Amino acid sequence: MKVSELGEFGLIDLVAGMVNAAKDERETAWQQLVIGIGDDAAAWRCDNSIQLATVDALVQDVHFTLETTTWEELGWKALAVNLSDIAAMGGIPRYAMVSLTLPGQTEVDDVASLYRGMIELARRFGVAIIGGNMSSAPIITVHVTVLGSASDKQLLTRSAARPGEKIAVTGYLGAAAAGLEMLSRHLIFDKEATGSLGRACVKPEPRVAEGRLLVKQGVRMGIDVSDGLLSDLRHICQSSRVGARIEIARVPVHPAVKANFGSRALELALGGGEDYELLFTASDSIIAKVKAATSTPVTVIGEVTSENAGEIILVDRKGKLFDLTKMGWDHFAGKQS
Ligand SMILES: [Mg+2]
Repeated sequence: MKVSELGEFGLIDLVAGMVNAAKDERETAWQQLVIGIGDDAAAWRCDNSIQLATVDALVQDVHFTLETTTWEELGWKALAVNLSDIAAMGGIPRYAMVSLTLPGQTEVDDVASLYRGMIELARRFGVAIIGGNMSSAPIITVHVTVLGSASDKQLLTRSAARPGEKIAVTGYLGAAAAGLEMLSRHLIFDKEATGSLGRACVKPEPRVAEGRLLVKQGVRMGIDVSDGLLSDLRHICQSSRVGARIEIARVPVHPAVKANFGSRALELALGGGEDYELLFTASDSIIAKVKAATSTPVTVIGEVTSENAGEIILVDRKGKLFDLTKMGWDHFAGKQS
């Protein structure tokens, strides 16, 4: 079977199964492990704290093209996606290691620009870039590993959703996917929309402060919206063995997406991905405390259910089932199965 036939999630399941089957509980490394493969970041106990680690890659012509991204933005985003995974654990990012592959013809100034973008974001979150690797290759790839620690020894994990909890999301959705479409198809919008959609696509803001706030207020289930709301919600349903009921009218579609993408706005918000907002579940009272403690928008979009474990049900305002495939969104059918 080819990698493309098994797909990313199937491939992760395969290697996670192999690694877990070989786990040796007599070894300190395994004894101190809190979360292994399968969440936003790994977590392990270290003396009196819990440490976190995550790695992600941006590959030229798979995740980015230099036609729509500057080198500076590339550096920013390569770090941002990792900081977002630490945020999704409720952690504090501390250290980053950067592994680059570059064609020999790359301009030195361009590499300096990449680091300028990365350093700008690193400084903002107090992250130290402590090393890495560079190697020659036919295409540009940027692998960033981020290490962090958990505040208050508590984590946001994918397996902690409980029936009866509300499902909530920070910020607005759909802007990153809409921004990518705007940049790659050279769509023309007004200045404000162009700015916010472009930024969402190439300079996402990791929700580190919000992740820490969630943990502090007692939230225990969180994930960042990287693959797309429905896809990430499915990870939660599978890890927590629960169902989810989402009221589509409540999904916070980004205003610039609503204004410029018409009937496709909801599709971009549900399936677009790369928004790097935090999706979490908690009781009404905890969500009320979270809302009171931040100026970041927090929207309740549905609830966790005990029936239909592993599945997501979408309903309209009247509670009637909303069928995405009927809308002609066949690619969602694939994602949902
Ligand atoms: Mg993630």
